[in-house]
Amino acid sequence: MVKAVAVLGSSEGVSGTIFFSQEGDGQTTVTGNVSGLKPGLHGFHVHALGDTTNGCMSTGPHFNPASKEHGAPEDENRHAGDLGNINVGDDGTASFTIVDKHIPLSGRIPLLEGQL
Ligand SMILES: [Zn+2]
Repeated sequence: MVKAVAVLGSSEGVSGTIFFSQEGDGQTTVTGNVSGLKPGLHGFHVHALGDTTNGCMSTGPHFNPASKEHGAPEDENRHAGDLGNINVGDDGTASFTIVDKHIPLSGRIPLLEGQL
C-alpha cells in the first residue's frame, strides 16, 4: 500500500488532514476531515503545487497532467485533481471518503497512457 498525507492550515482558522492511500494498482482512497469552513458545499481539488505560503493563490492550478478541461469527478474529461464537492455541516466540519481512479500514488498516470 502506498500512502500520502496533506495537512491543511490557514490563518483564517481552516484546518484539516487529508489521507491518500492506494492498494496495488487499485483506485486511490481519499479520507479527510476539515474544520473552520462555512456550512454547505465546497469544491474539493488536488492542486498542482503544495505551496500554501500565499494561501490558495500559490497552490497553482488544479492537478491536470493530461491537459483536460475542468469537470466533475464522474467526467472522463476532467482535471485529475477534480474531486467534486464536500458537504460541510452547520458546525463547520466535514469528514469524507472519496474513491477515485485519476489520482494514483504510484506507477504511470493512467490519463497519460498513449501520450508518452
Ligand atoms: Zn479543475
